[in-house]
Amino acid sequence: MASALPRTFRKMIVSKLTQNFKEAVTFQTVPMLKPGPGDLLIRNRFVGINASDINFTAGRYDPTARPPFDIGFEGVGEVVDVGSDVQKFEHGQGVAYMSNGAFAEYVLVPANIATPVPATKAEYVPFLVSGRTADISLQEFGKLKAGETVLVTAAAGGTGQFAVQLAKAAGCHVIGTCSTQSKVDFLKSIGCDRPINYTEEKLADVLKKEYPGGLDVVYESIGGPTFETCIKSLGFKGRLIVIGYISGYESDQGFIASVLNTLPQRLLSKSASVCGFLLFHYANRYSESFKRLISMYEDGKLKAAIDNGKNNPSGRFVGVASVVDAVKYMYTKKSEGKIVVELNPEETSKL
Ligand code: NAP
Repeated sequence: MASALPRTFRKMIVSKLTQNFKEAVTFQTVPMLKPGPGDLLIRNRFVGINASDINFTAGRYDPTARPPFDIGFEGVGEVVDVGSDVQKFEHGQGVAYMSNGAFAEYVLVPANIATPVPATKAEYVPFLVSGRTADISLQEFGKLKAGETVLVTAAAGGTGQFAVQLAKAAGCHVIGTCSTQSKVDFLKSIGCDRPINYTEEKLADVLKKEYPGGLDVVYESIGGPTFETCIKSLGFKGRLIVIGYISGYESDQGFIASVLNTLPQRLLSKSASVCGFLLFHYANRYSESFKRLISMYEDGKLKAAIDNGKNNPSGRFVGVASVVDAVKYMYTKKSEGKIVVELNPEETSKL
């Protein structure tokens, strides 16, 4: 099987530390890889785009990181070669994985972190980073109870769509923020009780008027003024989970929140809590979470919307070079669901 592989393949690398993704990355043609004893060689078919791809290129995950280094958090593909010690995987088998270096036509992944999937479908990508983030953080910190009120920001996005559905499945009343009517319609289709298009309604006003008792749980990923509004709207014993602060990612400054001055008093007065969550700190729960999400999906209890560039003026994202456009697309706020890039080496080689 391995002998049929091309001698070289294309990959993206980070060659400059900056949050400007296009300036940060370059492409290389490199010799085909050979798996070590515990490794799988995977031909990537679909890779996931994450808001934090630009934090990664800026070196914010690891301040000691020095270019060049690989990038790309997750993918779904097929096994094309296996290391000598690998038992449970076969050539041609579909696998999903979270591992650095996914923005490449081929990638080596330790077999013990790869999960077999029934088919190499794009629909499995959203469950890796985005689905797990919602699932594990809501269990760990949300501690949802039926009847509680949950606000999800960026609710129509890659991870927001899962927070909405998991909170609904737990019997909660779910509010979701978004910026277009199309996203409002999408949110209704996945069970969101109160979509708020913040370009038409002010979030703070809706929360004050319609939820005077305050929010029980907030799944918050925007930061800045949205974070402040969420803090102010927390109810008694409310829990705010800081998933991210995307409004600060494109700036050099990051996140400067005036709310920090008043935070202790605000939390104390309501016995409320704010906690940070970073998926990579919960690796021991990846396997169990992925299985639960896939099983809900296969049973029709969870939808996984993917966006391959449906609102992108220059069309679908195909080939490793199109990752640059896909990351740019994320920051246009036009995407719905999880942004996925399809990797097809024949098309990539034309770019
Ligand atoms: P996404 O939600 O698919 O896309 C980002 C969405 O955020 C946009 O479509 C937009 O939706 C909204 N948004 C609001 N203000 C924005 C701004 N200033 N710039 C760009 N987008 C803005 O992206 P994602 O990858 O799933 O990530 C969403 C958030 O979750 C990010 O903060 C990310 O860092 C975080 N995250 C954290 C973890 C973790 O382990 N902690 C893991 C995965 C993701 P509207 O226009 O509808 O508001």
